Amino acid sequence: MKNDKTALITGANKGIGFETAKQLAALGYNVFLGSRNKANGLKAIEELNKLGFTNVQALEIDVTNKESIQNAKEELKTKISHLDVLINNAGIAGIISNLPSVDSIDNIRNVLETNFLGAVQVTQHFLELLGKSNAPRIVNVSSELGSLTLQSNPEWEFYPYKVFAYNTSKTALNSATVMFAHEFKDTALKINSVAPGYTATDLTNFGGERTPDMGAKVIVKYATLDINGPTGKFFNENGEVAW
Ligand code: NAP
Repeated sequence: MKNDKTALITGANKGIGFETAKQLAALGYNVFLGSRNKANGLKAIEELNKLGFTNVQALEIDVTNKESIQNAKEELKTKISHLDVLINNAGIAGIISNLPSVDSIDNIRNVLETNFLGAVQVTQHFLELLGKSNAPRIVNVSSELGSLTLQSNPEWEFYPYKVFAYNTSKTALNSATVMFAHEFKDTALKINSVAPGYTATDLTNFGGERTPDMGAKVIVKYATLDINGPTGKFFNENGEVAW
């Protein structure tokens, strides 16, 4: 299947981002696979090429580095006239055992830099290319751990998972989803937060029973919404998630 649609996924050299790149390529999107390390990006492209996908290209982009984002934007502008899909997927867990009373400010800052500020500055830089699409879509890859409602519910399966920096970063990312959706409510742009679920990847030390392709499937669903689709909401595989 071929089409002229384009997609950029940050942190797509492995894990859920890599699977998302694969699934969008299978739908015919021209996929730009973002990686902060060029060699890792090229290795991922090689793997996709071996699977028969030729509509994939590597794009070096470190979401915490303004110059890197700027360079990626300039490079993309020489290759495409419009961007249909942006997936803010790059993320880190940080130090996961820390409670708010003892977490170091350096750890909190690092996690927010990538998971929140990274997604915001990538979005800001690519809005121009997204604005040239007829149906721009942004997915912020979030987590149920960022849901204040679930975090406050002792009955919830992951209630004990109080990872201060990470959870806070995803709550902040969810706020960005709401704010961007409001700013662009009268345009064709749709932006949603999507939780892929607890997935076996490097980020979780391969804990979690879900596989990256399961998480990617949910992300792809909201990256390819039609004109009647929602914006400014939070979803997982089962539907809407409470903020
Ligand atoms: P992963 O396998 O560790 O992949 C994370 C990706 O983000 C890697 O490609 C990594 O690049 C990249 N990255 C980290 N910092 C970056 C930066 N500064 N600039 C650019 N890329 C950067 O983890 P994953 O589980 O697939 O995570 C993908 C997303 O899903 C994250 O946002 C995560 O929070 C979210 N999520 C995961 C789970 C889960 O259970 N796994 C659950 C909910 C949400 P390197 O290879 O260079 O490190």
